[in-house]
Amino acid sequence: MRSAFGYEVIRSRRRTVSAEVKPDGRVVIRAPLFMSSVEIDRFVRQKQDWIERHVGLQKKRMAAWKDGSGNTAPPLTDDQLEVLKKAARDKLPKRTAELAKVMGISYGRVSVRAQKSRWGSCSSAGNINLNCLLMLAPDRVQDYVIIHELAHRRHMDHSPRFWALVASYCPDHTDCRRWLRDYGSGLISRLP
Ligand SMILES: [Zn+2]
Repeated sequence: MRSAFGYEVIRSRRRTVSAEVKPDGRVVIRAPLFMSSVEIDRFVRQKQDWIERHVGLQKKRMAAWKDGSGNTAPPLTDDQLEVLKKAARDKLPKRTAELAKVMGISYGRVSVRAQKSRWGSCSSAGNINLNCLLMLAPDRVQDYVIIHELAHRRHMDHSPRFWALVASYCPDHTDCRRWLRDYGSGLISRLP
């Protein structure tokens, strides 16, 4: 059986296999070093429905960001922004609690705002602030920003120790940062 999408395989020293749909709809399969391509193909077929649904969603999301000329999408209306904030306040504090537990890190409060200047911040008192526009970014980018801010609870700088901590919970952080570089300003420019 042939799937409607092609996929790229990245092998690394990991124990499990996972599928990821990139912002542009590309499919990446991360697999253990010695997993055979037959096994990988079987995994892809099992996940086919999920993958196709997410490829469709990402393509739609990308299309919503851009108009035909390739410029960024029109500004969000106040109503849309309120919906976004509500969704972010539902999701991001919960996700922060989950990731903090995994990382064994404590923090104060989480607040969610619409901000033009940053994706997240962490105060010296341990309060974390997250940008509601993250709701328009892929889950893994949301996780990266949260992990980044939580890691500041250990290291209040961007030292090699800080990045090593981020990398241990977010191995593809370079990719996530690239995503924010490539698409982030387009999202921020949509704030009313
Ligand atoms: Zn930082």
